Amino acid sequence: MADSTSTTSTVPARRRADHPVYVVGGGPGGLAAAYALRARGIRAVVLEKSDRVGASWRRHYDRLHLHTTRRLSALPGLPMPRRFGRWVSRDDVVRYLEKYTEHHELEIVTGVEVSRLTRAADGAGWLLHATGGRELTGSAVVVATGYNHTPRLPDWPGRTGYTGGLGEPRRLVHASDYRNPEPYTGRDVLVVGAGNTGAEIAVDLVEGGAARVRLSVRTVPHIVRRSTAGWPAQYTGVLCRRLPVGLVDRLAGPLAKVSVPDLSAHGLPRPDTGLYSRVREGAIPVQDVGLIDAVRAGRVEIVGAVEGFEDGKVVLADGSRIEPDAVIAATGYARGLEDLVGHLGVLDSRGKPVVHGPRTTADAPGLYFTGFTNPISGMLRELALDAERIARAIHRAIAKAGG
Ligand SMILES: Cc1cc2nc3c(=O)[nH]c(=O)nc-3n(C[C@H](O)[C@H](O)[C@H](O)COP(=O)(O)OP(=O)(O)OC[C@H]3O[C@@H](n4cnc5c(N)ncnc54)[C@H](O)[C@@H]3O)c2cc1C
Repeated sequence: MADSTSTTSTVPARRRADHPVYVVGGGPGGLAAAYALRARGIRAVVLEKSDRVGASWRRHYDRLHLHTTRRLSALPGLPMPRRFGRWVSRDDVVRYLEKYTEHHELEIVTGVEVSRLTRAADGAGWLLHATGGRELTGSAVVVATGYNHTPRLPDWPGRTGYTGGLGEPRRLVHASDYRNPEPYTGRDVLVVGAGNTGAEIAVDLVEGGAARVRLSVRTVPHIVRRSTAGWPAQYTGVLCRRLPVGLVDRLAGPLAKVSVPDLSAHGLPRPDTGLYSRVREGAIPVQDVGLIDAVRAGRVEIVGAVEGFEDGKVVLADGSRIEPDAVIAATGYARGLEDLVGHLGVLDSRGKPVVHGPRTTADAPGLYFTGFTNPISGMLRELALDAERIARAIHRAIAKAGG
């Protein structure tokens, strides 16, 4: 992609000075970018579709704690307080984002959803088409609408007709709708998807009194301890980013054998693809917050991939049919960028931006993306780094244009 990208801009100085940089999305990525711009004397206005900053975090399930350390999850210009502990809770993440906004006096406009970006008529700057027919002109735009934007449910055959056995209204929910185990007490639940979210929800259900918990696994995940002898897995993740993929793959195998027990007898063999190769394909390892023990104790049963739904039953890859009371699909999210920027040639075939951080494409100068990678070193850490890089690039472009 390098040859089709550029960090320079053709935007004239007048437009730069007249119009703010718009940041689309008031999550950690957008707030960090707004701060970094402001710190360089550039006016940044955050447009957030919900009524408050940190909307994604407010919706996450109750038990969620960061898998990344407090220190390596802070955004630029404000550490997280020590009292949050090493593994920060969901509520404290929300508190921190609110405090961050207030502390840096960020300019946030809530209740504004940006639906489409187009180049301004004279080719300088960007037109943001937003809620209520608004058209806003920005000298540059930072898109920070989130990697986990649109809950994704596979198009399983029979999905729409699935009701399950007990006749409850919602037998199949996406993990984004899961809050806590309470509605599932005494129930037989199937969790689909063995990423971090699926693994954690399965454990939450077990601890919260579900009668039976099964975890449907299509691709066996790499599992790592959140920390070993006080050394957080994230530190290793940060170091790995500097090493060749093959080398990390080779080192990770023996390390996993030492730190994670063999769960083959319970249906979770060790993966036969390398840990870092999988990360490069978008699958970060599962951090153990109780899954290993729950699987060993038979409290979380591993079953095959879901193939579809038939006669109120779930059909698994081995042909067996099971009849849980509820299915929770931890099957990920789509970026949801097509309507916003799909017409600008900045997305790849999977809907991800072809550039991120300080880079822009030659055809869309001044259009930046943050938060659309899933790095092993922790996304919050990368959002913080990218915010500074983006702000530097915009600052350079303004200086170059004489603004
Ligand atoms: C369950 C879960 C746990 C995670 N745990 C960790 C962790 O431990 N450590 C870590 O480093 N990362 C973690 N992440 C990943 C990542 O850090 C978070 O998802 C983080 O919130 C990403 O920040 P963001 O600003 O890119 O996106 P979001 O937080 O999703 O923010 C995007 C914002 O944009 C708004 N928006 C969307 N579309 C529009 C639009 N068109 N117009 C206006 N506003 C819009 C949304 O309302 C939202 O407020 C986790 C993710 C999930 C899902």
